[in-house]
Amino acid sequence: MSAISSNKPYRVGRSKTGLGLFATKPIKKGAKIIRYFGPLLDSRKKKDDAIENKYLFELNDRWTIDGSIRANVARYINHACRPNAESDVKPRKRKVFIRAIKNIEPGDEINYDYGTDYFKAYLKPIGCKCAACERKRKKKRAEARAERQRLKEKAERKVRRKAEKLAKQGAGKKAGNGAKATRKPNGAAKGGNGRLANGHDRASA
Ligand SMILES: [Zn+2]
Repeated sequence: MSAISSNKPYRVGRSKTGLGLFATKPIKKGAKIIRYFGPLLDSRKKKDDAIENKYLFELNDRWTIDGSIRANVARYINHACRPNAESDVKPRKRKVFIRAIKNIEPGDEINYDYGTDYFKAYLKPIGCKCAACERKRKKKRAEARAERQRLKEKAERKVRRKAEKLAKQGAGKKAGNGAKATRKPNGAAKGGNGRLANGHDRASA
């Protein structure tokens, strides 16, 4: 690493999605961090139109920066839906700078919003992995888990209530049956007894 590059407030490092650009020094809100650069493509030239890669940065209807060259370290900056930097586009100068929109601390990953077109084309199909989207996904997963748990408990309560009801009914039925079963002979016995009592056998006995 040259002295110049070590003066820079960033380094390339491993991020969740591969490589990313990380702050190595505090970067003040509003500060230019790095230039996004590469050959300029002219949409009026057919050969330029054929170039297709993920690092194309459209300046306006005519000019696009092909940022896929190695020297363009800014190409390592990942997209974030709630970024700490932005792309500051100067179409007339045909230049793009990445500028801090928050105070960035050493160790923070530097991100900017790639814009709707890129998001739709490249990120939506695979799911955006930025911190904000990860948090959203985590929250959704937790909510889904809580909802599943709630439904499970509801179903269990229902089953329990039904079982209790059945048990009660069963017990009642059994008790009823039992009562009937015992009442009959009892009744019969009573009746018998009564009859017997009414009879002369016992009186005589
Ligand atoms: Zn996102």
